[in-house]
Amino acid sequence: QRPVPSDVTISRSCVPKPIECLAKEVGLFSDEVELYGRTKAKVQLKTIDRLQAQPDGKYVVVTGITPTPLGEGKSTTTIGLVQALGAHLKLNAFACVRQPSQGPTFGIKGGAAGGGYSQVIPMEEFNLHLTGDIHAITAANNLVAAAIDARMFHEATQSDKAQFDITVASEIMAVLALTTSLADMKERLAKMVVATSRSGQPVTTEDLGVCGALTVLMRDAIKPNLMQTLEGNPVFVHAGPFANIAHGNSSILADKIALKLVGPQGFVVTEAGFGADIGMEKFFNIKCRNSGLKPHVVVLVATVRALKMHGGGPTVTAGTPLAKEYIEENLVLLEAGCSNMRKQVENAQLFGVPVVVAVNAFKTDTKAELDLICKLAKEAGAFDAVHCSHWADGGAGAADLARAVQKAADLPNSFKFLYDVELPIVDKIRIIAQKIYGADDIELLPEAQHKVELYSKQGFASLPICMAKTHLSLSHDAEKKGVPTGFVLPIRDIRASVGAGFLYPLVGTMPTIPGLPTRPCFYDIDLDTESGEVHGLF
Ligand code: ADP
Repeated sequence: QRPVPSDVTISRSCVPKPIECLAKEVGLFSDEVELYGRTKAKVQLKTIDRLQAQPDGKYVVVTGITPTPLGEGKSTTTIGLVQALGAHLKLNAFACVRQPSQGPTFGIKGGAAGGGYSQVIPMEEFNLHLTGDIHAITAANNLVAAAIDARMFHEATQSDKAQFDITVASEIMAVLALTTSLADMKERLAKMVVATSRSGQPVTTEDLGVCGALTVLMRDAIKPNLMQTLEGNPVFVHAGPFANIAHGNSSILADKIALKLVGPQGFVVTEAGFGADIGMEKFFNIKCRNSGLKPHVVVLVATVRALKMHGGGPTVTAGTPLAKEYIEENLVLLEAGCSNMRKQVENAQLFGVPVVVAVNAFKTDTKAELDLICKLAKEAGAFDAVHCSHWADGGAGAADLARAVQKAADLPNSFKFLYDVELPIVDKIRIIAQKIYGADDIELLPEAQHKVELYSKQGFASLPICMAKTHLSLSHDAEKKGVPTGFVLPIRDIRASVGAGFLYPLVGTMPTIPGLPTRPCFYDIDLDTESGEVHGLF
């Protein structure tokens, strides 16, 4: 095997085509495209109206088994699959991904542009400011804070929202991701509940008189950002809501435009954050419920290392070398850990969508290990399971995956939601806990019980549920690997994102603000003031 250079080295070795050329190639008109330099452009929403009569392409969501803290390659597979569909199967294919938070880039995990020979380029642009959408959200968020402060100062309104959320965790980010038009965004921004009045009534941004100004600040952010893969395929990078206290999916508008642009034989591949129990469940129950779009295929990414961990392998932590179990063949651990993959395949099947398992191969994996996962995936009910090497080989390494996805997309589709939104709040939470996580039951702690009563009284009971749970276990306890059983899921509190349109229960000790490690990545990030080059990104 030839060595694969670092992500940043590969990214910098490839000269992207001028973004206006890509825009033309995918069928955009020049008056629909706003250039932001040579490698990025915003696409106007009027494109959807022009293409209204055009049937949508096939809609694919990439999700994963319960991951290790290192990530198992969902972004890398999203990009690799689009490269394979585009450059190798010669189909129209678009990737729709989230804009990364500065948390991973400056924290511990690094950027989120994919990896190896399956990346969005240029990675510096992708991982840092992009076209300023996050800054617009920060400005809007700060404006809401100022409006609340002013109203409290002048009128002594009681506020129960005295917490700080970083931009990507803010409700405005979730609004951006879930909105379906400019008018809809304005409505959602107006409905955000920022406080409770002394008489128990919800106080909204509209009550504060700030929703028009918020819409003005967000008017450019609503347009999806066009970039490209290493192999020149189109990528929309748009919105980056957290996957715990928000739904962790890129924007509906980007998916809608891309589905029109690729046409009925084409493919739009989007990624849902964390494992299938979280990102995929929210993709279906929140994102698809909002957009009305029907997904055709679930791609479930699995890795040998994560499955060995689920089978009882030693703890995997970022920044520490992997134990020998992970670099030597061990079919016993692997087979035991495939229980987690089986459960996540079953979770996808609850929604009536065919599943293709993509085994993302690492250089230490053996053929016997990769084959074992594929065999067990098919036994678990996956439509197909293939191993792929797009990290090392680019799109060519995901050609089998692309063919499997193409076949799966033609199967009859019986997509359905997991729960009816009109059910009581507690019933909806219990359905997710029991059916997706495998919990025996849920336990509402007093604060959560109080919120159920408050939101029911305030008229928010029929919103869908966005569980804020650890992604490192199917249960609420990150230490419990494989398929935990015999547990009761504790619901500590419930909060409401009324504008975005969901209630988010806080499960167990789940923090709402991410912490940085003792030695965050920002220690290594610097600018070479001679050459202007950014150092330390990966
Ligand atoms: P996720 O989206 O699931 O969090 P990513 O696609 O961001 O995961 O991948 C996490 C990290 O692992 C990235 O740094 C990526 O370059 C690396 N990676 C992904 N697949 C492979 C592979 N097959 N071999 C080696 N490294 C990989």
